[in-house]
Formats: sequence, C-alpha cells, structure tokens
Amino acid sequence: MSDAVTQSARGVLKQYDAFSHALFEKSGGAYFILDDQGEIVMVNGEAASLTGYSPRDLSTGMFQDILSTGMESIFRDHHDRVFSGNTSSLDYKLCLRTCEGEIREMVITESRIPDSPHAILAAWPAGEGRQLHDSLTLQMTIFQQFLANSPLATCMIDTKGRVTFINEGFEKLFDYRLPEMKHLGLAVLYPENRKVSESRHLQAVLAGKTVLVEADRRHKNNTLIPVSLMGYPLVIGGENLGGVFVYRDISERKAYEAELSRQALHDTLTQLPNRALFMERLDYFLNRCHRNPSTRVAAFMIDLDRFKLINDGLGHLAGDALLVRIARRLESSLRPMDTVARLGGDEFGVILDDYADKQDVVRIAKRVLREISRPLMLGSQEVYSGASMGIVFVDREYSRSEDILRDADIAMYRAKSLGRGRFKVFSKNMHDNAVEAMSLETDIRQGIANKEFFVAYQPIISLESGEITGVEALARWNHPTKGAVPPTRFIPIAEESGLIVPLGKTILTQACRDMVAWNKLASDKAPLLLSVNMSPRQFFQPDLVDSVSYILAKTGMPPDCLKIEITESVILDNAKDVLDKLETFKKMGIRFSIDDFGTGYSSMGYLQKFPVDQLKIDLSFVRDMHMNRDNLEIVRAIIRLAHSLRLNVVAEGVEQSVHKDLLSSMKCDFGQGYFFSRPVSAENMQVLLEERD
Ligand code: C2E
Ligand code: CA
Ligand code: CA
Repeated sequence: MSDAVTQSARGVLKQYDAFSHALFEKSGGAYFILDDQGEIVMVNGEAASLTGYSPRDLSTGMFQDILSTGMESIFRDHHDRVFSGNTSSLDYKLCLRTCEGEIREMVITESRIPDSPHAILAAWPAGEGRQLHDSLTLQMTIFQQFLANSPLATCMIDTKGRVTFINEGFEKLFDYRLPEMKHLGLAVLYPENRKVSESRHLQAVLAGKTVLVEADRRHKNNTLIPVSLMGYPLVIGGENLGGVFVYRDISERKAYEAELSRQALHDTLTQLPNRALFMERLDYFLNRCHRNPSTRVAAFMIDLDRFKLINDGLGHLAGDALLVRIARRLESSLRPMDTVARLGGDEFGVILDDYADKQDVVRIAKRVLREISRPLMLGSQEVYSGASMGIVFVDREYSRSEDILRDADIAMYRAKSLGRGRFKVFSKNMHDNAVEAMSLETDIRQGIANKEFFVAYQPIISLESGEITGVEALARWNHPTKGAVPPTRFIPIAEESGLIVPLGKTILTQACRDMVAWNKLASDKAPLLLSVNMSPRQFFQPDLVDSVSYILAKTGMPPDCLKIEITESVILDNAKDVLDKLETFKKMGIRFSIDDFGTGYSSMGYLQKFPVDQLKIDLSFVRDMHMNRDNLEIVRAIIRLAHSLRLNVVAEGVEQSVHKDLLSSMKCDFGQGYFFSRPVSAENMQVLLEERD
C-alpha cells in the first residue's frame, strides 16, 4: 500500500476521533469504512484476519471485490440505501470470499457515519459472536448518535488535551467550528481573567478525574455564558483516550436565580429597591461617612399626600398605576447613582450620594416635589398627586441607619403638618417636637377636661354687599404652660388619637351657643350662618347624627343656620356610610361646604352625588392669584364650576384688596381672610357684629 493511502487512512482516523477508533479496533468485529461507491477507506485488524488480506491490500480496493459471486447487487442495494439518507443503519446478510477462496456467510450492519462522506460496515460470521457484535455496534451507534444529536454541547479531547471532536450543540452554543477549536484549544472558551484557574478542569480530566462544576464560558462573540460543565476521562479497553466535556447552558436558571434575589430586594410593583435594600445602602453610606468625614450623603423620605384618596376613589389598580408612574418620575428626576426606593405603601426613600452643597440638595428636593405634583392621566382621569418630604443630612453623629430613617420620617411629618407639598430639613429640634407630640396627646385629653379649648371666629363676607353673612368657628387652645398652640399642631394629633370627637363636640356646643346669642341680638337682620369644621375621623363616629342633633336642640340652634365644612377626603374615604349621614343632615336643613377645594381629588363627579351647597376655594390659590396666572385661572374655573352646579362659592385667604377685587370681578359670592378680619375671640366678634348697625 502506498504512503498516500496510509496518509489518507490516518486522515480518516483523525476524523473519527480516538474514541471511535478504539471501538473500531477493539470491538472484536470486522469493520470496513466505505465511501458511497464501496471503495474501502479503512479497515480494522479483524477485517484483515477475517478475509485473509492485509489491511493495506484491503484499503486499496473495493468492497465489491471481496464478495462472492451474486452478492454484489445485494450489497449495492443496501449500500445505496444507507447513503440515500433515509435510514441510519441496515442489517443484512452477505457472503464474502476470503483470500483462500473460501465463502463465508456474514451478518452485516451498515451505518452511515454522521457528518461524513462514509459509512461503517460491520461484518460478523453468521451465528457467531452475534450478541457481542450487536451490543458493541449498538454502543457505538448510540454513542455516535448521542454525541451528534445531543443538544448538550459536547467536545472530545485527546490525551494531550487537544480538541478532536465537537458536536452540533457545541457549535450552536459557542459558534466555533471544529477546525477553529482544534487550532485554538479549549482555552479559547475561558473567561479572559481566569485562563489559568479554569484550565484546572482540563488537567483534572486528563489526570483521570471526573469534574462537575458551574462556570462561565466565552462565546465566540465574547459574551460569557454560564454553563454547568461536566468533564470525564474516556477509557476504553483499559486505554486512556482523553476525555469528554459536556456543557449545559444554564443562563436561564441563572437569570431566574438572579431574578429571585432581585425580587427579595425589590418592590415587585415599581421594581424599585425595597426597604431592606434601602436600609442596606443607607448602612453602606453611613459606614463610608464614618470612614471618610468628607462624605456628603442626604436621605429623603417622601410620602404622597393624596394617595388614599385616589386609591379609594379610583380603585387599587389606579392606585398601583399611580405608584408606578411616581416611581418613574422619581427616578428620572434624580441621577442614576442616587438610590430611589419604595419603603412601603405610598412612601418612597431617596439617598443622594455626593451632593455639592446643601443648597444643591434643596434644589433637588424642590425638583422632585415639582415632578411628583405634575398632573398625570390615569386612564381617562387626570389626577394630581403631591408629596411631603423630610430631608436628613447624614453625618457622623448617626450611629444607626434606622435613626436616619426615623429622623427623615419626623421631618416628613413636620412638612405634612405645615401643609402638603412641602419639604422639611430635619433638625434636632424636630426630634424634640416629635417626642413632644406624644405628650401633647395627654395634654389634649386634660385640656378638654380643663376647658382650655375655646372658639375663635372669622367673618365670612358677601362680596356683593360687603356684609358679614356668616362666621367660621376655629378651634383654639390655650395650653397651661405652652400658651397658644396652633390648630395645625393639635388638630392632627387629636385626629389621630380620636380626641377630635370630644373636642369637636366642645367646639360645636360653644359655637352654637355664641351664634344663638348673636342672632338674638340682631333679630331684625338675616340670621348669620355658622360654619364648623368636621374632620374625617368625626364622620366615622356612628352616633354623629344623634350627637349633632342633641347639641342643636340643647343650644336652641336652628339647623338651617349651621354649615358643616368637610374636605373631599371625608366624602371619598367612606362613601356609602358618609352619604347616609350627609343625607340625614341635609333633611334636617344643615348645609355643606367643601373646604380646601381644588387641592384634593380631581374627579368632580361626587359634587352631583352629594348634597353639597358650597365650594370653599383653598387659600393656596387665592393668596397669590394676583401674581400667578395658573392659580388665577384655577380660581376662575372653580367659580364657574360652582355656579354651573348651582353652588355658591367662598374664597378663603383673602389677604389684600387686590384679591377682593379680582374675586368680585369673577363673581365669587363670598370672601374670608385677613383682609376682612383675622379670626377673633367671641367678644371681639360680637364687637364686629355690633359695628354693622
Ligand atoms: P381651615 O378650615 O382651612 O381654616 C382656615 C385657616 O386659614 C384657619 O387657620 C384660618 O385662621 C386661616 N386663615 C384665614 N384667613 C387667612 C388669610 O387671609 N391668610 C392666611 N394665611 N390664613 C388665613 P387655623 O385657624 O390655624 O386652622 C387651621 C386648620 O385647622 C383649619 O383649616 C381646619 O382644618 C383645622 N381646624 C380648626 N378648627 C377646627 C375644628 O374645630 N375642627 C376641626 N375638625 N378642624 C379644625
Ligand atoms: Ca374650614
Ligand atoms: Ca381651608
């Protein structure tokens, strides 16, 4: 046999990798590798001893040449079918003629070798060693098909660690072809910075060990693919033939795991970091602050002002949508390095890393609040949300991040109590105030018993006639040691503690008494209307109607002289129950005014549903309408709206004559504010009333 043939046989051998070659030589059967014409490309030792020809002689001829007469057509027929691609393996019988001219009946299994121009033909003397032959052929076929068809990326290496085979799964996963892999070696798959450490798996397999690890492997395009990697040595017939590596792409599982841990630290609705992650980051910044005093970090606590209203009024889906939109606005109004988290409910937290100076933080706070208060569309509803914000400048005085959050919370509540849509920077003083708020509750309780509360009155003026037509009763507290405590301070605490209920009764009783007396004094004039504030909590009490009726009867106050001021939240918090109470009051002749109108809920639908008589334009619009076009337009719109619904309208916060003139020109019915009179004591109110004559 010529050298060229030997060369080509080696080429073939290489192509069919060490493993197949081992099977080929050691299986005990006679094997012939044939091309489509039947030309013998390679044989094993057994084939030579079976036929009596030398392997060299065999490898230069055609398979047809060693068939006994009449067998050629049977062979051709099966051989062509194997190559036609419709079948992967065929079993048939042939008679071979040996070198000595002996005819031997053989059982043949012929299979196409995947991805090659060749077929492998196994010949076994009929009736002999059939089982062994079958099991080995089967093993080989299974192994070859397993390798070729397995979706798992598989590659084989020789004893030197050189790549000898890769399957289609491998090509798909890493985008390398066999020639490239042979040239580049397995190392091409290792992550750039781990070339050395990753090669240990290859060394282990070559040393006869099995490895099963999770690792990253590099795709041809340089992206890293997380894989589960199995490597094992290949030993056949006691001979070490190298090894096999199988890679399973686990990016999906990894992504899932990452998602799980992300979820544990993120809010599922807004995708923002949650409270746990916020605290973790706050810890980190606080630590940094202790290590490096020049660290500049500020924390914001943000609470939406009207969330409950929207959530209850428009439904939870709308509430959720609002939170998501606000989350996005928060993110877009801050830098990527800042942390925005949802702390729970309608509360958000922000950490500003490395701000320039405190003025910078204030500017950012204003921008954030402005962003949040921009109107937004929820479905077809336009809603306005607003927020109150507490700010803490983190410094080394803090030892625990919980304290930072607590102080931000205190500052936020302070901002809320000063009127919504504001921010407040935390000060030590505020902490004292918060502690004080707790003791204030006790003081209110005692104050009610000790009659420290009294009523101040503010006149309500007809803008047409300039006459006083009514008064608003405003609660006042003369604290035994603190002196005058403003209602903006004690009303929220009374609300929260429920003390507003007894306090409200006290105020209503006193105001009715005063009003009855004043109306008696001026019985020739149209009776004055008394406006009294009632907060949501008061509307929760089941006996509200009875208790009001009782007070009216006891003081002799005609129900049609009483006007109850409620905010939109009263109506929207507990609709059905409140509606019943309002209807009952209405039947008694009591009137209703919607206080702070324009600051709350955007849907006006309830105005027709509830028996409302009056809208009271919030002073925040009135106070600066001469300088702020938007507010002027809002005031104008509210007046128009009220009139079109046959409601009268009163503007509060009339501080200057320009306000009064603008309101008159827009046909506002009534005005109330410092321009006419500040809230005054009952005695001073009486003086004002007597001056009317
Ligand atoms: P409100 O019902 O909106 O009362 C109007 C507030 O505006 C009053 O503050 C009044 O003094 C103030 N005000 C009146 N005219 C002007 C003005 O021209 N300019 C400015 N800047 N302010 C003006 P006050 O008396 O401090 O009451 C604050 C809030 O406390 C009230 O807001 C009301 O919500 C609540 N409140 C007061 N008394 C009672 C009460 O008896 N029961 C309940 N539930 N709440 C009350
Ligand atoms: Ca009021
Ligand atoms: Ca008001």
